[in-house]
Formats: sequence, structure tokens, C-alpha cells
Amino acid sequence: MTRCLNCGADRNADVCESCGLNSAGAELFLRKRLLNRTAIFVLGALAFVAASVRYPPVEVDGVLIFIGALFFPTLGLAIWVERRALRHAEVEALKRIYYGLVPIPWLLAALLLVNGLLDRGVPQIQQERVVGKFSMAGALPIRRVLVTSWREDHQFESILIDRNDFDFLHLGDPINVKVQDGLVGIPWIAGVSRP
Ligand SMILES: [Zn+2]
Repeated sequence: MTRCLNCGADRNADVCESCGLNSAGAELFLRKRLLNRTAIFVLGALAFVAASVRYPPVEVDGVLIFIGALFFPTLGLAIWVERRALRHAEVEALKRIYYGLVPIPWLLAALLLVNGLLDRGVPQIQQERVVGKFSMAGALPIRRVLVTSWREDHQFESILIDRNDFDFLHLGDPINVKVQDGLVGIPWIAGVSRP
């Protein structure tokens, strides 16, 4: 006995009693749905990256590493489910795990957005100094400065900045970093300026 690839019901014959699809039809439906959910997941990951650039958490590297660690295994899982479906192997449990992971980037993007957008707190101005800068070209160009840290247990902070700030800042320059607590308690950087 196997389960229907489309609805997950137990199935004894080629045609599923529950949804009326035969095994080829059920496979087609499953693959279509996998593709749709994968598109939703990828868009969610992009939304998350966009939110973390717009309202960058102080721990932006940890956040980006986290999303990478979620992104690739989840896509791998989708591929695995599809391969198993092609062989008409059992996919029900894996499929549910995959569907459960799909909304996570959207939820995290929403969290960062709410944390920054609705933060009405007064920013703290941290007076630091630029000790490094680097940029990475590409589809999503990334420009960062490394500054001395205001946190006791950190030596440096890496801050995402835009092109204008990047061109104007030089090594050794004093820099004011506007730090906000965040509505949901994720400290984020509202901007940098020159004193
Ligand atoms: Zn079915």
C-alpha cells in the first residue's frame, strides 16, 4: 500500500479514492505544488535579505549565515521530495517538513521589518572610528565598513552602508553610528554619519 502523492490518503488501487487522481496525475499535481512552494520560499528568502539590508541588525552576519543555513538544505529537501515522487516512493513526511519550512523566511522578513519600521525608540549615537572597508560587486552589491565596537565583548562591528557613505568614509575617520533597540528587541543600525 502506498499513499497518494497528491492528497496523502492511503491508496490500494491506481486511482486514489480520496481525490480521484491516478498515480501519474497525482505526481503531476505534487510537482506543480512543489514548484509553487519553492517559488514562494525563494521570494521569501529575497524578502528577508532585503529586510536585513533595509533594517540591518547589529548581528547582520549571524542573520545572513542563518538564512544561508536554512536556504540550501530546504531547497535540497524540495529536490529530494521531487526525486522520490518520480520514483513513486513515500513522500508524505518529507513533504510536510518542506511545506513547514516554506513560510519561515517570510516570517523572519516580517520580524525584521516590524522590528525596524515600527521602532519609535530614540536612537543611541555611538561615536566610533572606521578601521576597515570593503565592497563586493555583484547582483546584490554589498558595501561595508568595519568600525570599532561600542559593545563590551566585541572589538569591531561590521556595518552595511550605501554607496554614498562608502565613498565618503575613509580609514581612520570618526563615524557616528545610530543604533536602535528594535521593537522586538533585535538591535539594529539606523544609519551612519560623519560627526
Ligand atoms: Zn489522492
